[in-house]
This record gives sequence, structure tokens and C-alpha cells, in this order.
Amino acid sequence: MSDPLHVVVLVKQVPDTYSERRLREEDWTLDRDATDPVIDEIDTRGVEAGLQLVEEHGGEVTVLTMGPERATEALRKALAMGAARAVHVQDDRLAGACALQTSVALAAALRTLAPDLVITGNESTDGRTGSLPSMLAERLGVPQITSAKALRLDAATRSLSAERVHDSGVTEVTATLPAVVSVNEKTNEPRYPNFKGIMSAKKKPVSVLGLDDLEVDPARFGTGATSTTVLAGAPRPARAAGETLTDDGQGNSVATVVEHLVAGRLL
Ligand SMILES: Cc1cc2nc3c(=O)[nH]c(=O)nc-3n(C[C@H](O)[C@H](O)[C@H](O)COP(=O)(O)OP(=O)(O)OC[C@H]3O[C@@H](n4cnc5c(N)ncnc54)[C@H](O)[C@@H]3O)c2cc1C
Repeated sequence: MSDPLHVVVLVKQVPDTYSERRLREEDWTLDRDATDPVIDEIDTRGVEAGLQLVEEHGGEVTVLTMGPERATEALRKALAMGAARAVHVQDDRLAGACALQTSVALAAALRTLAPDLVITGNESTDGRTGSLPSMLAERLGVPQITSAKALRLDAATRSLSAERVHDSGVTEVTATLPAVVSVNEKTNEPRYPNFKGIMSAKKKPVSVLGLDDLEVDPARFGTGATSTTVLAGAPRPARAAGETLTDDGQGNSVATVVEHLVAGRLL
């Protein structure tokens, strides 16, 4: 483990889940101009986890994103929370990148940063493939802990322990560093940036890396080289109005609700 501890937290700028999200019909990519962009909430938990580790053990948090120019706003939010510096992978040839291409570019950027620990969210709220953390760990050749909460670092043994939350319960797992850990939504409550943090974030360094700054083959990128393509899309059908039941005091609505549940195999 380098001294001091170097944690890199991945943050993604995503459409605000409260705004209407749309795909462009010409290429089925996200219409970013139609939505308010925000830092993904799961990634603010990643930033919080990284900050807590460096507050306890010393060191610094770098935040890393890949996205268009305005994704810098997501980096500034993370800097306002307390991250020390930011790296923005930004290149027009990355537009419309698939998850595989994204992992190639982010892994190359991570190699230049040589962190002790990489923290990601377990799944973004837009692409939602939940695949980036595993692809990054594989490309970097390091262990991975998925869907983690309660991170604990043991500097003496260069290891990170966490509770891994899954369908059948919670498993305590440990990985030697360097490692990739993806956090779940129960991992912590992220801090709000205070005024001092917001002002100091304006002066913190944000480095921009293009494809030519990374050890990657530029021919692997571009919409013509994606591994998967969205072929078609359709808006979600409008919700039908629900049925309102009025109980007559004799329990008639209870019987109707039970009938519905049985018909839907929910009972
Ligand atoms: C409209 C639309 C169309 C798409 N079309 C395709 C397609 O045709 N083929 C295809 O393969 N994929 C497609 N994607 C997926 C898109 O490429 C992914 O958003 C991107 O590759 C990352 O995958 P994810 O968001 O599912 O990451 P996940 O694996 O769900 O994200 C987990 C974590 O990884 C980190 N992370 C993810 N992306 C970034 C980033 N850019 N910068 C920094 N950290 C990041 C964050 O910490 C995040 O919480 C599409 C997405 C959208 C919204």
C-alpha cells in the first residue's frame, strides 16, 4: 500500500431520476439535453466511503469520471464533499460508448493513477448494467468485493474487509489491496457539501485525459466499434388507473383484495 493511502472513487453523471428520461430515436442513445444531469446518488455513497477511510487512515481521495464536458459538475460535487482532486476522461470519440468500451477507458485511466483502492457504486441508475466494477477488477488484475457495506481497512495486513449483502444474507469478506470494491445503497449516508467545501472545490485540480493520453487503441472506440447496440426502444406505457374499493363495513373490499391477490398468484 502506498503511503499515504490513495483511494480512487468512480463517479458517474446520470440523468436526474426525477426528470423525464428519453432516448434519441436516431441512435437510441440517451438524450442528455432532455434531462437534468446529477452525480449518481450511489456514487456519493462511494465518495463518502472513501472519505471515511482516508479520515481514519490518512491519505487522499481522487474522483474519476468518464463523460461529456458537463460531467465536470459531478466531479465538483465530489470535490465539495472532500475529495482532493479529480480526473475527467473526456473525448468526443467516447460518445455512445458501451459498457465494455467504458471499462477499457476507465481501467487505462486507473492504471495511470495506481490507487490502493478503487470504490464504485454497485449499479448506476441509468445504464444499470452493474458490470463496470467487475470488468475493472478483471482488467486491473485485482480482487473485487461487490455490493459492500461497512468497509474496514487494516493497514498492517494491507486488506479491506466488508459486509457483502446478498439475497440470502450478509457475508463478511476480505480482499488484499489493491482491490476494487462496489458499494450498495445501505453503505452509508453521504455528507452534504458545506459552504467551505463548495468554495474550495472551485480551486481543486481537475485533470482532463483524452484517449491519446491513455494506453488504449483508439480504434476500439466510437459508435461503430461498440460490442452491443440498442436496436429499438419504446416509451413505457402509461399506467392504467387503479381500482378504488369502498368498504361497506361488511368486509366486502377485503374479499375483493384477496381475490385480486389470488388471481395474481400473490397469495
Ligand atoms: C441510453 C443508453 C444506451 C446505452 N446503450 C448501450 C449499448 O448499446 N451497449 C452497451 O453495452 N451499453 C449501453 N449503455 C450502457 C452505457 O454504456 C453505460 O452507461 C456505461 O457503459 C456504464 O455502464 P453502467 O452505467 O451500466 O455501469 P454500472 O456497471 O451499472 O455502474 C456501476 C458503477 O460504475 C461506475 N461507473 C459506471 N460508468 C461510469 C462512468 N462513465 N464514469 C465513472 N464511473 C462510472 C460508477 O461508480 C457506477 O456506480 C447505454 C446506456 C444508456 C443510458
